[in-house]
Amino acid sequence: MERDMNLDEISDGKLYEANDMVRLGCGDCDGCSACCHGMGDTIVLDPYDIWQLTGNLHHTFEQLLSQGKIALAVYDGVILPHLCLEGAQEGCPFLSTQGRCSIHSFRPGICRLFPLGRLYEDNGFRYFIQVHECRKESRTKMKIKKWLDIPELRKYERFITSWHYFIKAVQEEIKTLGDEAQIKQRNMQLLQTYFLTPYNGKDDFYEQFYARRKE
Ligand code: SF4
Ligand code: SF4
Repeated sequence: MERDMNLDEISDGKLYEANDMVRLGCGDCDGCSACCHGMGDTIVLDPYDIWQLTGNLHHTFEQLLSQGKIALAVYDGVILPHLCLEGAQEGCPFLSTQGRCSIHSFRPGICRLFPLGRLYEDNGFRYFIQVHECRKESRTKMKIKKWLDIPELRKYERFITSWHYFIKAVQEEIKTLGDEAQIKQRNMQLLQTYFLTPYNGKDDFYEQFYARRKE
């Protein structure tokens, strides 16, 4: 989700690439699950996340919605899914009773990224570190690539860029639509194409995604 912010206030003022070393190592989050609570609707899910969640949990997008694991919200006119953090402490539905992530190996991209953020520019992005977000005080340096632990990272980064600018374009398009029925129809089309139509969890995600983009 895009946010207006002053980078100098929230980061160390530097921008990074995947091979750069940054103070991210937090001892495997031992004893802490702070960033799995109270995040509201900010853990927005993209098609890669849905491919991972539906494929690994063997549940459809609709089932995840009806189980209250995910929910839909409107972001600048566009309806997108997000993790559904609820209850008094707004805890993630995938947190175990021991406070650990039960879907660690296929957790959403925003969870992998935290406390990094992305600054989009020139049809790409670079990473920055949000220095006030992680509760662990002494963090060790590690490569961003290792922190994210995402296979075929270059492909993933290209997909993230493509999805980001595509959603921005749809947000702009929606602003030009005259009535609610057209806005609803555009959103339904987007949801149907990228989320409701099942992905094959065993097949390459990127081929499936770009085939949908082409259509
Ligand atoms: S999916 Fe895992 S890492 Fe992400 S908020 Fe939920 S418990 Fe935390
Ligand atoms: S705040 Fe830091 S240590 Fe705590 S769960 Fe999040 S990333 Fe891990």
